[in-house]
Amino acid sequence: MSSNTIENLSKLIAKLPSMGPRVAKRIVLNLACNKEKTLMPLIEEMNNLANKVFACKICGNIDEGKICKICLDSKRDNSIICVIEEVADLWAIERTKNFQGLYHILGGNLSAMSGNDIEDLNINNLKQRLIDNKSIKEIIIATSATIDGQTTAHFLFEILKDFDVKLTRLSHGIPIGSELDYLDDGTISIAFKSRSEF
Ligand SMILES: [Zn+2]
Repeated sequence: MSSNTIENLSKLIAKLPSMGPRVAKRIVLNLACNKEKTLMPLIEEMNNLANKVFACKICGNIDEGKICKICLDSKRDNSIICVIEEVADLWAIERTKNFQGLYHILGGNLSAMSGNDIEDLNINNLKQRLIDNKSIKEIIIATSATIDGQTTAHFLFEILKDFDVKLTRLSHGIPIGSELDYLDDGTISIAFKSRSEF
């Protein structure tokens, strides 16, 4: 018999990505047995996460403060915006150190499976950025090479095509069906360099 606390916390952890009920329960037991070393520091960092980390008001990146470090960095090229699905894609692209522009995170893709629709995506903010900021010359639509990712890319193209901005997409090197986050740095770099107009 396990207590409600263990059950309740296990259920919450099991909802996290890559978790299942058994792993979740093992984590909870581990935390209960290692309060000083693991649980207390974790609580502190969770509190920091709740109170200090936000979605950037401009691009949707997750970072400390209301505007993320990338949007605040004056050395970045504010004439190019790379549109991606998730923050993990931003991390993958940043790892390659090849892209100096800014980002826009959609927060997912159009997917019948997950029930995502247009309203769930951070698209209105992107349109507003284009209206407010005339220095933007190119939008790279870098959604996943999956069916949902490509559906999203075509949908974005339809929305953005009337703006006075070049629309490009990643081309060579992205295997069909893949998510950016899972690709190696070299593949992502080549895909950026060989991007083509929509
Ligand atoms: Zn930002």
